[in-house]
Amino acid sequence: MKSRIHRCAGCGKYTLKDKCPDCGGSAIGSKPARFSPQDPYGKYRRRMKKEIERNSH
Ligand SMILES: [Zn+2]
Repeated sequence: MKSRIHRCAGCGKYTLKDKCPDCGGSAIGSKPARFSPQDPYGKYRRRMKKEIERNSH
């Protein structure tokens, strides 16, 4: 599963779309920042990805 994740420039929410579904701001995927300690959603996203992978098997 390879999807490009975008981050909303407005509220910081992660989305797979170009536009934030929450605030309508532009979501950019310039930096993946997968394991950045400064990424408050990193832990949540990794966990979510793990769940998805497990459920898809
Ligand atoms: Zn937003």
